[in-house]
Amino acid sequence: MECLICKRQFIKRRTLLTLFSKEEGYICDRCYDKYKIELGYESFRLEKYNCLVVNMFKYDYKINYDYFIYEYQKIYLRLSKLNGSNVLFFDIVDLNNDLELLNLYANLLKNNIIILTFMVRK
Ligand SMILES: [Zn+2]
Repeated sequence: MECLICKRQFIKRRTLLTLFSKEEGYICDRCYDKYKIELGYESFRLEKYNCLVVNMFKYDYKINYDYFIYEYQKIYLRLSKLNGSNVLFFDIVDLNNDLELLNLYANLLKNNIIILTFMVRK
């Protein structure tokens, strides 16, 4: 396989347990180490509802985050099972400018919201 980020050829290691399972994800181990997924969160109160912002990366790595869509999907599915909150996706959340928008979303959905994002700017 070719890594989508560094374009290096790599081989996904298989064990006896994963030999016949379908492997997804097209990023090499080196890039996984370089661009680490480090989940973080911030919760705050909007006007009427609560908001939880879950970010996947600590730093802005200046890469195309779309390559991590498989990992994003797994986190999204886990978050959507948490409770009755609505899970939304933003590429990048800017806590200085987007609070009004988040408040609008929560009021529109009439529910607490969980935002899954690649990056949070403060
Ligand atoms: Zn790579």
